[in-house]
Amino acid sequence: MSENSKETTPVTELQLEGAPASSGSAIGKAFIYKKKEFDIQSSTIKRGEVLDHINEFKKARIDMESELQKIQGDSNSDEASDIIDAQIEMVNDPVLAGQIEKLIKEELYSVEFAIQRAFEDYIRLMNNSDNPQARERSIDISDIRDRLLEYINKESDSPAIESGCIVVTQDLSPREVISLTNYHISGIIMDRGGVTSHAAIIARSLGIPAVVGAKTATESINSELRVAMDGDSGKVFVNPTDLTLKNFKKVIEENRKRDEKLNEVISKKSETSDGHPFILRANIEFPEELEQVRALKASGIGLLRTESIYMEKEHFDDLTKQKEFYSTIMEGTGSEPVIMRLFDAGGDKIFDEKHKEQNPFLGWRGIRLLLDNRKLLREQLEAILTVAGAYPGRVKILVPMVTVLEELTKLREEIQSVQQKLKSQGHKIDEEVPVGIMVEVPSVALKIDKFAEMVDFLSIGTNDLTQYVLAVDRGNELIADIYNQRHPAVWELIAMVANSAARHNKQITVCGELASDPVSAACMLGMGISDLSMAPSKIARVKSILVGKSFEEMKALAAKVMDCSTTEEVNNLFQNWSES
Ligand code: PEP
Ligand code: MG
Repeated sequence: MSENSKETTPVTELQLEGAPASSGSAIGKAFIYKKKEFDIQSSTIKRGEVLDHINEFKKARIDMESELQKIQGDSNSDEASDIIDAQIEMVNDPVLAGQIEKLIKEELYSVEFAIQRAFEDYIRLMNNSDNPQARERSIDISDIRDRLLEYINKESDSPAIESGCIVVTQDLSPREVISLTNYHISGIIMDRGGVTSHAAIIARSLGIPAVVGAKTATESINSELRVAMDGDSGKVFVNPTDLTLKNFKKVIEENRKRDEKLNEVISKKSETSDGHPFILRANIEFPEELEQVRALKASGIGLLRTESIYMEKEHFDDLTKQKEFYSTIMEGTGSEPVIMRLFDAGGDKIFDEKHKEQNPFLGWRGIRLLLDNRKLLREQLEAILTVAGAYPGRVKILVPMVTVLEELTKLREEIQSVQQKLKSQGHKIDEEVPVGIMVEVPSVALKIDKFAEMVDFLSIGTNDLTQYVLAVDRGNELIADIYNQRHPAVWELIAMVANSAARHNKQITVCGELASDPVSAACMLGMGISDLSMAPSKIARVKSILVGKSFEEMKALAAKVMDCSTTEEVNNLFQNWSES
């Protein structure tokens, strides 16, 4: 924690709330950081100026690349370095560069206008996405555009920030977060962004406390005001009173002790108090999360969401990049297994702007969409199976949104055919690459024996299973109170699937959010599911409950949950159990 010496006259205290993005707390003077806004008007040039404008663009790219390389060299964090790598790649993307040069050459656009136009469509696509992660990535891309424009306009990027300040801003790109560390700031508060935004990931890896999504922070806070922020709770106090400061410092101390305890838990053996082993894996989507996965000693990746590749595919991707993505994940996970889920596009995860559906969650998503887009499916299988061949025994394929057995039969045929092709091209392949399904649609849970016979493993997706069992849209705020993964009907299906997996001797895991609810995780263990996968940030908390209780107690809990009639009864049961 740090505090600025220069006091500001306290007026009334104001409290804001955002999402806790990077642990730790700070008290300091606010610095409002504003991005430069460019108003690029449509402008054309004479044919004789084309070469100058293309050269200006090339020079700006070179300048930006060296700036990013320098930032990367200074950053001291693998995660930050990986994110900056992706930025450098984007700056050098030949498709984008080609598009800009073409606009200058053929349309006679000025270099600024060509940059503006080339980035426009891509940024709009990302911003309009229903996927919050895609919206967050648009910040990184806008930053590249703006920095290129700054280089062309020869504008400097050195705000006058005093050391110890808390930076308050609308949003930040990864490059900006790292650059800000040069000013020895004590914290970051952003109006926008989620906890998975690149800014948040980098703040975490650099140990800078951060609160994101605080909505009105830049409107409510002026530079020079004193601010206290808590990156563990997401709370921000502007002009904190003495009492607030005292309470705040107490929370900081408690957080410190809690972190210490959780850190201890991480190095403990993964077994219940009476010696029953369990496995905790990580759900991830981005290579930037690997450092945290390793730090938490997770047993590999229980769910690799691959939709981000699809999102970025339109402009920046090809088969080689897809293979690189999977190889990076394999390299970053030692000798542990990685469960790669095929694109779960559709539903809330954007697929194609042209296909708007009335009920996207009941529509064209997951395996349904893949079987209708064989090129997309075959390309992804080719990338995954090539990487599987290079890391034999470590890759598993997970199929999303399976509803009927025929989908699995068709997919297996496609896998065989891609394996054949790779073999004939002289690639090494993993003949035994396991194929499993997400159990997230009630029809699969109800006929689980038939599915279990056909697959190598099962993974229960409680997020979707809950929405389909309870007929409650998981993203609809109006009915959010009915969407509860602890509902007894969900437990009934989990138990059915667990029993079937045991009968068929098939690996079973739960990768939905319910697995990261500590008492629910204990209940799953009691039902015979000892392999759970969750967001990395949840692993320590779940482990601390599982190591502290006995398997016998968990089995008793699992038996009792089957008698519950309502979610409230489950909640009471779990509450009493955790306090016993
Ligand atoms: C699930 O449905 O539980 C799941 C893990 O998948 P997603 O949240 O990506 O739909
Ligand atoms: Mg799902």
